[in-house]
Amino acid sequence: MAKKTVRDIDVAGKRALVRVDFNVPLKDGRVGDDSRIRAALPTISYLREQGCRVILMSHLGRPKDAPDPALMLDPVAMRLAQLLSIPVRKVSELSGPGVEAAVAEMEPGDVLLLENSRFDPREKKNDAVLVRDLARLGDIYVNDAFSAAHRAHASTAGVAKVLPSAAGFQMEKEINALEALLAQPKRPFVVVLGGAKVTDKIKVIDRFLDMAEQVLIGGAMSFAFLRAQGLSCGASKVEEEGVGVAADLLKKAATVVCELVLPSDVVVADSFAEDAATQVVEVDAIPDDWMGLDIGPETAGAYAAAVASAGEVFWNGPMGVFEMAPFAEGTRAVAEAMAACPGVTVVGGGDSVAAVNKFGVADKMDHVSMGGGASLEFIEGAQLPGVIALPDKEPV
Ligand code: ADP
Ligand code: MG
Repeated sequence: MAKKTVRDIDVAGKRALVRVDFNVPLKDGRVGDDSRIRAALPTISYLREQGCRVILMSHLGRPKDAPDPALMLDPVAMRLAQLLSIPVRKVSELSGPGVEAAVAEMEPGDVLLLENSRFDPREKKNDAVLVRDLARLGDIYVNDAFSAAHRAHASTAGVAKVLPSAAGFQMEKEINALEALLAQPKRPFVVVLGGAKVTDKIKVIDRFLDMAEQVLIGGAMSFAFLRAQGLSCGASKVEEEGVGVAADLLKKAATVVCELVLPSDVVVADSFAEDAATQVVEVDAIPDDWMGLDIGPETAGAYAAAVASAGEVFWNGPMGVFEMAPFAEGTRAVAEAMAACPGVTVVGGGDSVAAVNKFGVADKMDHVSMGGGASLEFIEGAQLPGVIALPDKEPV
């Protein structure tokens, strides 16, 4: 990674204003999956060891530009305090005199959490006054929130231009993993893409068609491709705007070395329900009133074999409605094949990461990207505002 990290700048004894990604699921007022909080611990601990006062900012959920009691960061502060085994003070604002007073009371090693950054309508506007007020809180700025780096907000891009800045360790890890994957993937390079919509992932599919040996398609997205090939797909969720896109990608696939692979069989159900009647059919024989909710066993076996023998695998998007047991087997087969693969394995995407956690194989992956939309934009080749705002390392 070309960007400076906390190791490259003078942090000792400084007030460190740190953007983290604590956008975690909340359940009954408590933190559900705390992976994102854990991911920030190395940076927080490093800064504390260097005698920093650590001031954390994060967004959580999608508040409507105003405070929302259900999205306050108090449960996050509680969980963070448990993980660090120290008290973590939480203030109820993002900036202003109250926050400045709280920062003034901090001792070296203390950790303070500011309120949900998106309660302030100026955050998303990258407002100059908010940037100035945030910058007053720190001597240095650290961005450890790769997953928010595709947004040009005050806490992600704005402050980086004002304070001496660097990337945190989670940001560094995410960028290094994706850069390695894009620069020199081990061969054969197999990409598995599924999930809801082909239109979300067009550019990613397009890029991988130029790079990979195989792109395997599953999930609801596969029906746009099957429809583009003239199949009816019954009552499956076909994204109509995606059909033209899929046709173009099929056309491109015919001209490149990379093989674009579609499901050969599918698990269909007579309703979108856990207790629906199900059957396995070939993709060209989906009955009119039935919907495809998972790849079939023949497809799952073929995909698993390709994945298990890959030099490198990138996976984004579940193969079916894995949230319901009868339609989870295709996703499970890919997850387990990734776990068994001796090559480099990278998984990204909110639901795909939930799937590897559910099947208990997350620790068998070389990299589990918390990045979601940011990872996909990075792969598409976009410049992420939160990343480009950070200074480059000095030439050696
Ligand atoms: P990710 O978050 O990993 O990028 P997406 O958000 O694109 O993945 O898609 C995940 C969603 O797609 C899941 O909620 C899953 O239930 C749904 N899905 C996958 N296959 C199907 C299908 N055949 N029909 C309907 N929904 C599907
Ligand atoms: Mg998703």
